[in-house]
Amino acid sequence: MTVAEILKSNTQTAFSFEVLPPLKGNNIESVFNTIDKLKEFNPAYINITTHRTEIAYKETGEGLFRQVLERKRPGSVAIAAAIKNRYGIPTVPHIICSGFSKSEIEYELIDLSFLGISNLLVLRGDKSKNDPRFIATPDGHQYAIELQQQINRFNEGYFLDGSMMEHARPFSFGTAGYPEKHEEAMNPESDLLALKAKVDAGAEYVVTQMFFDNAKYFDFVDRCRAVGINVPIVPGLKPLTSMNHLTMLPRVFHIDFPEDLAKELRKCQTNDDTRTLGVEWCAHQARELKAAGVPSIHFYSMNAVQSVQRVAQLVY
Ligand code: FAD
Repeated sequence: MTVAEILKSNTQTAFSFEVLPPLKGNNIESVFNTIDKLKEFNPAYINITTHRTEIAYKETGEGLFRQVLERKRPGSVAIAAAIKNRYGIPTVPHIICSGFSKSEIEYELIDLSFLGISNLLVLRGDKSKNDPRFIATPDGHQYAIELQQQINRFNEGYFLDGSMMEHARPFSFGTAGYPEKHEEAMNPESDLLALKAKVDAGAEYVVTQMFFDNAKYFDFVDRCRAVGINVPIVPGLKPLTSMNHLTMLPRVFHIDFPEDLAKELRKCQTNDDTRTLGVEWCAHQARELKAAGVPSIHFYSMNAVQSVQRVAQLVY
């Protein structure tokens, strides 16, 4: 079943979460540990994030540094296959433009095809940490929709060079949406039109950026429906787990905390206080979304596995 089919045939709000590939040099056990903690909630699918290559500086001695290209979290495709084989749960690797040429993406699609993985979340990907803005990789894509078009062409049986292939199953994919607007969009309307274009170009569902105010999600869904985006829109939630989140999440993800939450956050003195409040707030959001009949809730579980586990115990 594709994720879109799962979302459309659901009678109850599904549970899904994402895992990050471990840092280079670590083993896959941390990923399995996360899944072992959350599998009792019957995840409908598990996402695996993908991270671009970055420029790093290695000391060569005598105060000199050498520039090297480093992928700190490699292995998304392999991890997706390992999870699928070990747990029998559908996996959704993220496939990104950032740091990949079209040809590298094509080989990734071929690998995924061999592994029988046909669900993808298609994204532009984050900018390089060294760049002030997103810069497309040489012979890569500028926007997620261009990557979708490459996948559509692959699904039709064509390689980049125009030659034909024989393959069994096409890829099905979702896309990202931003209830509080993507940081680079000129305004909410143009961001919405960009999302509509991605859906018209084959994205079968939307997963939202994290938000802490359900009113923003409901308003986003209404605005999507008004412009003819009629696919499932999966809300993304993250439980706050650290004092650092109070400033880091608004800065990095361009999201606001509602005043009711901000008022409680001002009282937090420690990470433990924030974690307790984070679980309460996230459970409150999830309960309301579930009551509203959302198709699934997607949990951002990075550094928050125990909190997601607690929220799932309270809500599912
Ligand atoms: P796009 O859809 O390409 O949009 C980027 C910007 O360009 C938006 O402002 C949009 O309005 C605008 N735009 C789009 N199309 C056009 C066009 N044709 N002309 C002009 N403007 C246009 N990042 C990672 O690196 N790895 C991950 O695994 C990852 N997972 C994520 C999962 C989810 C659910 C979400 C919400 C985000 C994730 N991200 C990930 C972050 C994401 O890659 C960034 O938010 C990125 O900046 C935008 O990605 P996008 O796919 O939404 O881009």
